[in-house]
Amino acid sequence: MLLVAFSLNSYMPTPAASGEHVRSIKSLFSCGLYFSAEMRKIRAIFFDLDNTLSDFMRMKEEACRAAVRAMIAAGLDMTQEKAYAVLMKTYFAVGLESDMAFSEFLKSVGQFDHKILVAAINDYLKTKNDFIKPYPNVELVLQKLQKEGVILNIVTDAPKTKALQRLSTMGIKRYFKFVVGHEDTGREKQTGLPLMLALNKLRREVPGILNSEILMVGDSMERDLNPAKKLGLQTALAKYGQRTEETGTADYELIEIKDLTNFV
Ligand SMILES: [Mg+2]
Repeated sequence: MLLVAFSLNSYMPTPAASGEHVRSIKSLFSCGLYFSAEMRKIRAIFFDLDNTLSDFMRMKEEACRAAVRAMIAAGLDMTQEKAYAVLMKTYFAVGLESDMAFSEFLKSVGQFDHKILVAAINDYLKTKNDFIKPYPNVELVLQKLQKEGVILNIVTDAPKTKALQRLSTMGIKRYFKFVVGHEDTGREKQTGLPLMLALNKLRREVPGILNSEILMVGDSMERDLNPAKKLGLQTALAKYGQRTEETGTADYELIEIKDLTNFV
């Protein structure tokens, strides 16, 4: 990365500076060539939601185990372990946010029955709500960051309604200025489009904020941090939520969410 070492003040355009000069200084800033990312104060954060603020996979696994127990009690003829394995495989095939997983599962094992389906859905929903919880200290960290004037936002691939539901259930929705969800662009974060939309929304709140003054926090290099790096944002990897090892490096690694307060 090209690092140009001079101070901001000495290169601020004077009132007499030409428009062209002002534009070139601004473009230097927006390209992130002016300072190394680490030197910039963080003024806003884009948080991923699932496995970054809440343990989504734990919720999914516990809710699916409850659904399997309910289905067996309602007449499903399978062992718990086998049914759980096939159900999770079905979820990964149809999408973790899909509402069709149970009916697809029952069809795939040749045991579709409305009575069994309803038992699964009811116990799944009941258990899911019990397990939608933020990781320890999430609210404390959000409170502290908000108090310091950092603008907090969510950028998630989850459907917007489900993201808002989870934030409400966890009691942390009020900390976020906006939520960018899947429907806002119809594309996944890997494409960079949701982040670009979030940057536009943020600039309406904070005109002139630089990409290098924004931190992306997420549990996935591929989905969250690599697209953010391409746009010149600072990045922090939520190691505590990472389910599989990935290549690539972030500016910061968080062993717990509280680590954010060490550098923001
Ligand atoms: Mg995530």
